[in-house]
Amino acid sequence: MLTFDTKLNSLPRIQKKYLPKLKKLGIETVRDLLYHLPFRYDDFSVVVPTSDLSVGMNVTVIGTVVQSTTQRTWKRKMTVTNVTVQDSSGSVRATWFNQPFVGDQLTEGKVVRMSGKVAADKNGLYLSNPAYERDARTPTNTGRLVPVYPETAGLSSRWLRWQIQMILEKLDALPESLPDDIREKYDFPDITTAIHKIHFPEELQDAQSAHRRFIFEEILVMQCKLILLKMHAKKDHAIAIPFDEKRIKNFVDRFPFVLTDAQRKASFQIIKDLEKDVPMNRLLNGDVGSGKTAVAAIAALHASIASHQVAILAPTEILARQHFDTFTKLLGDENITCALLTGAYKMYGEHPALIKKTTRPKILSLIKDETIDIVIGTHALIQDDVHFNDLALVIVDEQHRFGVKQRAALQQNTTQVDDGQPARVPHFLTMTATPIPRTLTMAICGNLDVSLLDEMPIGRKPIITKVVAKTKRKSAYAFIEKQIQKGFQAYVIIPFVEESKAMANVKAAIAEHKLLQEEIFPKLSVGILHGKLKAKEKEAVMHDFKEKKCDILVATAVVEVGIDVPNATIMIIENAERFGLSQLHQFRGRIGRSEYQSYCFLFSDSFNNKRLHALERSSDGFAIAEKDLELRGPGQFFGTQQSGLTDVMTENITNIKLITAARDTAQEILSDDPALSKYSGLAQALAHFDKNVHLE
Ligand code: ADP
Ligand code: MG
Repeated sequence: MLTFDTKLNSLPRIQKKYLPKLKKLGIETVRDLLYHLPFRYDDFSVVVPTSDLSVGMNVTVIGTVVQSTTQRTWKRKMTVTNVTVQDSSGSVRATWFNQPFVGDQLTEGKVVRMSGKVAADKNGLYLSNPAYERDARTPTNTGRLVPVYPETAGLSSRWLRWQIQMILEKLDALPESLPDDIREKYDFPDITTAIHKIHFPEELQDAQSAHRRFIFEEILVMQCKLILLKMHAKKDHAIAIPFDEKRIKNFVDRFPFVLTDAQRKASFQIIKDLEKDVPMNRLLNGDVGSGKTAVAAIAALHASIASHQVAILAPTEILARQHFDTFTKLLGDENITCALLTGAYKMYGEHPALIKKTTRPKILSLIKDETIDIVIGTHALIQDDVHFNDLALVIVDEQHRFGVKQRAALQQNTTQVDDGQPARVPHFLTMTATPIPRTLTMAICGNLDVSLLDEMPIGRKPIITKVVAKTKRKSAYAFIEKQIQKGFQAYVIIPFVEESKAMANVKAAIAEHKLLQEEIFPKLSVGILHGKLKAKEKEAVMHDFKEKKCDILVATAVVEVGIDVPNATIMIIENAERFGLSQLHQFRGRIGRSEYQSYCFLFSDSFNNKRLHALERSSDGFAIAEKDLELRGPGQFFGTQQSGLTDVMTENITNIKLITAARDTAQEILSDDPALSKYSGLAQALAHFDKNVHLE
């Protein structure tokens, strides 16, 4: 008997040459194959007498082969097989091209069942290239609802049907992964029925209810995984950091602004987490400009006044540099030493006026001996030679740009203190680049606690956004020139096609820069920023722009993240239709950072720019992200490859009702039986999930 765990390479029916093809699809066991689900069914369930056929019908006929010929047409180098089949009402012809073996199989006298579409030519009606099988066989490819599987090279639906049917015939009882009461509640078929019905349903309804079951099962398994991750993390130890309320309050009072309620609440949630000796794993989910940095600064100060170390990871040098400037400014009176460690920058100091440039080894030794309290950096910070003495908190800005491995590397930077206590892992705070819609956080960030910054600092004017067609460019440029004469500055964003085409982007930016400087705005000063500039050059450009030595900055997507120049109130985005809505919103967040009105022009010559109008109407990053999710799927938030989500998951990720139900169920099951000892089917499904999907 076969079980879910039977390896396909142990089945004689499956020829060796198919194994690598199956493996490519992640199919190695019976379970994998049976979970390769059809995406539709062809309805060939009705057997029609040959006398009742008409053109266009999808039919099954059953009859005896009375004539079978295969001819080679030398002109077109094809073979044509014609088979005539007779039933009690009459006869019909069937035709196949280039499948001479059909003629060998359908010889005169055989009783055959054929399913296909009825066509007509000068000789009358015929079945065009129908599926066929001997009438004595269990209907597999004909005479029923026939499953159609996702296409892959060398694995036809026909082949999959034969194999799956053979396996189903020899299948042992399957382990049930859904608890009985859940199945009853949602009226799901049991696993064995569901597996049979999803592949070979009698009625479409059966397939549909099996389908619902598998969607639920997959989401349930995912939710169990997330909850278990969270439960396991709670078993780790972290440093409990006492709350020095007075000092934090003084610090916040010296901010040049009043915190929003959302910032206050998020900071409080974080501090409460940090007071505990279990590691925090929290997501700070906020729109562009909602003030995540201030919250991060509060958390960092909280940890460092208790004399622990903090690491802050930024995705780009520019952003790391900017955070360093912000932090040294904000923390200037706190007696805290900050360091900046990137490929290009190695510096540290307690106060903006006292920053020393140094070398990487020097910084590393200062991190090790705990002279440095807060270190801000890029990937350069996650190398093997970086050793913290007392790392209590890691803050990751613009989280999705860092891979799973890099996060793990930091998490492993556990704090070893020689006090007989178990090793302690740092607390983790991740900040989003793009506000993540609620449905998504629930579906795939369920292991994280979430603090939401759903409120903008007061006094921000919504950015006026306009989609601009080619014909209106001139007037947009004239408007921009006027704004610049009033003393404001502008960004011009050139689309970023793909990482691999970085050079093309740079070229496009250089050409645009030349055009703007020489022809469109000859009287203004136009700067350029792109990924191929050296860090020093980038810094000089940014510095000039901040100091208003340049009016317009042409940039590739490097400005996407975090750049903060409040005097820049205008943005042009070229070829805006090439970006996702969330990304455009993210760009746009670089302006609208002062009390002055800001303007964003989405230049698009494409007809396909309807989508963009959503940005004219809305300035709510969460709503925009939701729209983007609907239009483009979850990949852009996490990178599809990384998340390893299946199509089922991707399709259902916005189905909040289903996800909520699965989540509640997972919660119930696990709080009752965290080891899943009563739920062996679910435990197996989970083990399978672990093998195939890698979450952070
Ligand atoms: P993001 O959430 O996009 O990282 P930042 O932290 O860069 O946003 O903050 C955006 C801008 O808003 C910064 O110039 C910051 O100084 C300012 N800011 C942050 N919080 C407030 C507030 N509560 N009131 C006014 N301005 C604020
Ligand atoms: Mg930011």
